[in-house]
Amino acid sequence: MNWRKLFAPVAFMCLALISLPAQPQTPSDQQSRLDSWNKPFKPFRIIGNIYYVGTNNLACFLITSPAGYVLIDTAMQESAPIIRANIEALGYKLKYIRIILSSHAHFDHVAGHADMKAATGAQVIASAADAPALESGGTKSFHPLNPFKPVKVDRIIKDGEIVRLGSIALRAHLMPGHTEGNTAWSMTVEENGKKYDVLFAPSMSINPGVKMINNPTWPTIADAYAKSFQKLKSLPCDVFLGPHAPFFDMEAKVARMNADPKTNPFIDPEGFRNYIAGFEKSYNDQLQKERSGK
Ligand SMILES: [Zn+2]
Repeated sequence: MNWRKLFAPVAFMCLALISLPAQPQTPSDQQSRLDSWNKPFKPFRIIGNIYYVGTNNLACFLITSPAGYVLIDTAMQESAPIIRANIEALGYKLKYIRIILSSHAHFDHVAGHADMKAATGAQVIASAADAPALESGGTKSFHPLNPFKPVKVDRIIKDGEIVRLGSIALRAHLMPGHTEGNTAWSMTVEENGKKYDVLFAPSMSINPGVKMINNPTWPTIADAYAKSFQKLKSLPCDVFLGPHAPFFDMEAKVARMNADPKTNPFIDPEGFRNYIAGFEKSYNDQLQKERSGK
C-alpha cells in the first residue's frame, strides 16, 4: 500500500511517475481513504480458473479446482462480507477454500486471513520473512502499519517453491522490499487452447516514511528493492495482476471486457512492464533525493 500513490485510482498512472511532497495524514483522512478502497465490486472470471473476488481496490483472487480453492489475499478485516459474498455470487462455496496465500503482510491485504481461516479451516502459507508479521498482527515488521488480527502460519514457502492443490500449481517468487517477505505468485492457465503465464505481481511501492539510505530497521533495504526489480523483470508475464486493482487498471479492463467479451484485456505484458518501470523510477528518484540530502 502507498497512501500517496493510491488515493485516487484514476490518477494512479500519473502519480506513479511523479513524486508528491508528503502530506500529513490525520486518522480521519486515513479512514476515509480506507473506506474508499472497501467498496463492493462485482466478481468476475479473469481467465481460466482465476476469479477476481476483491473490493473495488483491494484485490483478492480465487483459483478453483475440483480439489478445492486457493485464495490469494483477504483484504481488510471489514472487507470480509464483500469477499465472502463475491465468492458465493460466483457459485463457489467458502468451505472449499483449502489454502490462503498473501501478496505481502500489510493489513489491507491480510487482515481478513484470521477470520477466513476460522470460517474455512484453510491452511495459511507464507514466506518465512512475512510470517512474523502475520503471526504478530503486523507489529513484527521493519515498518509496522496498522495492526490486525494475528493469524497462525501453517506452512512456510521458500523462494521458487510451488504450492499445489489438485491441478493448481502456484510458484512463489520472493520480492523483499515493500515488506520483508513480499511475494509474487506465478501460474499458467489455458484458455481457448492457448497457454498463458499469469503473474500476481507484488507491491513495489515504497511506503511513506520508509528510508532507502540509513534505514535503521533494515539497513540493506535499497539493495533488496534493486534485486527484486531485477528479478521481477525476469519473470514471464502474459496476464498481469497485482494486490491493488489500480496497479493493473482493473476497472477499465473489466469495462473493455464487457464491451467486447471476445477480447481479454488482462492479457497485458506491456502493462506489466509499465508497472515495473513506474515503480522503479519512483525508487530511483527517492534514492537520488536521499543521496542529495533533500
Ligand atoms: Zn502494502
